[in-house]
Amino acid sequence: MSRQYEIVIGLEVHVELATKTKIFCACTTEFGGAPNTHTCPVCTGMPGSLPVLNKQVVEYALAVGLAANCQINQYCKFDRKNYFYPDNPQNYQISQLYLPICHDGYVEINTTSGKKKVRIHEIHMEEDAGKLIHDEWENCSLVDFNRSGVPLIEIVSEPDMRSGEEVIAYLEKLRLIIQYLGASDCKLQEGSMRADVNLSVREAGASEFGTRTEMKNLNSFKAIARAIEGERKRQIELIEEGKSVVQETRRWDDNKESSYAMRSKEDAMDYRYFPDPDLPPVLIDQEWLDRIKAGQPELRTEKMARYQVEYSLSEYDADIITGSKHMADLFEAVTAICRKPKEAANWLMVEAMRLLKEQEMEPENMTFSPENLAKLIELVDNGTINRTVGKEVFEQVFKEDVDPERYVEEKGLKIVNDEGELRTVIQEIVAANPQSVEDYRNGKEKAMGFLMGKTMRAMSGKADPGAVSGILKEVLGSTRG
Ligand code: ADP
Ligand code: MG
Ligand code: ZN
Repeated sequence: MSRQYEIVIGLEVHVELATKTKIFCACTTEFGGAPNTHTCPVCTGMPGSLPVLNKQVVEYALAVGLAANCQINQYCKFDRKNYFYPDNPQNYQISQLYLPICHDGYVEINTTSGKKKVRIHEIHMEEDAGKLIHDEWENCSLVDFNRSGVPLIEIVSEPDMRSGEEVIAYLEKLRLIIQYLGASDCKLQEGSMRADVNLSVREAGASEFGTRTEMKNLNSFKAIARAIEGERKRQIELIEEGKSVVQETRRWDDNKESSYAMRSKEDAMDYRYFPDPDLPPVLIDQEWLDRIKAGQPELRTEKMARYQVEYSLSEYDADIITGSKHMADLFEAVTAICRKPKEAANWLMVEAMRLLKEQEMEPENMTFSPENLAKLIELVDNGTINRTVGKEVFEQVFKEDVDPERYVEEKGLKIVNDEGELRTVIQEIVAANPQSVEDYRNGKEKAMGFLMGKTMRAMSGKADPGAVSGILKEVLGSTRG
């Protein structure tokens, strides 16, 4: 019988904070912009420039730490991590090694086998590096320092996860906490949340951990899940062949679905950390900490409970709606306008979720305005359009944020309430389909559906199905015999 293995995973998660300016200068953190336009002497590492800490960075780090049940180091410090790399103009990164702002926390995750706590070793503040752009055409590399000095927190977990499922649940939990706090948008694709996966394998029941590797370059949950599976297999194969796992950093190539070694621990750098002499220690007095605690916004669990009480949503519905902060914000904004929470929840859960899936989009990227969804709900509710047309209009709201009132007007989608017109159309259809009329009279109910469909199509979907069925029965009855 083959041996049973267990995987052990710990994550290092980097999150770009949603501050307006960088961590140590007044440059904007705005994404995009022409290369090297969001820069100054501080974030391009000019000699003699001095960093000044952005207070908002400390506040976001504290907010995340508190939400993740951490202890706070009310006296914390910044250290220099020294290394050379072309995207790092100072030749060191300002980070925290000896006294990180938060430590010893946990988040609780839900998995198919129940609830579990994943411990957080620490959360520290640091600055992001610039970006290298490799231009293969010109055979050169270019550097853009716009991202240099953008604030990051790094959340380091204990090696507590035992499956890909737990890793995804942990990341989703972290992402939700941080999004609800407004501390970051946590977009993996855009790099505002980045996870490095440390993974080792051991025989089931063993008490010691195996040798781990660290995987980088994972920019979606799917890529993370695939990378974990790939690395698990690779390490087990090595062990089965009697070889040993080398502690190294590996880069996952999601297209090839395999990883390759970037650097091993043998040539690991000595970063020569030392306290940054340009930055004084950060003192977080009790009053400041209490103010952050008091200002913590409603997190998901509380929001879920409130939706069930305040809007009478089911637990299932509340769970889906609060599964994304943006979705929850939209829901509340729509409900505030139209005062129809059940309807607002339904459009989001059914139609919006369907379109998100179809277009492989994240809920965060929905851009339509709550006003337009509220208008659409009104139009369906007061019978101006029927539900089927409503779905078509919703798609336009979702994709282009069209004004539903104008769209319905322009496309002539209103329900035709003119009974005379409807009756004329139905009489024509009945006259043109004698076989169906015959079938109906012989008790074939399907014929009724066929004639209904014909009528709806002739009316371009703009008829009220109740009215069509009523008139149709009447007309068929009167021509009977
Ligand atoms: P380093 O100082 O080399 O960065 P750390 O002790 O800080 O190493 O650990 C980095 C990450 O690796 C943490 O998230 C930790 O949980 C995880 N980790 C440590 N040992 C293992 C192991 N044997 N297997 C899987 N993950 C591990
Ligand atoms: Mg580390
Ligand atoms: Zn700057």
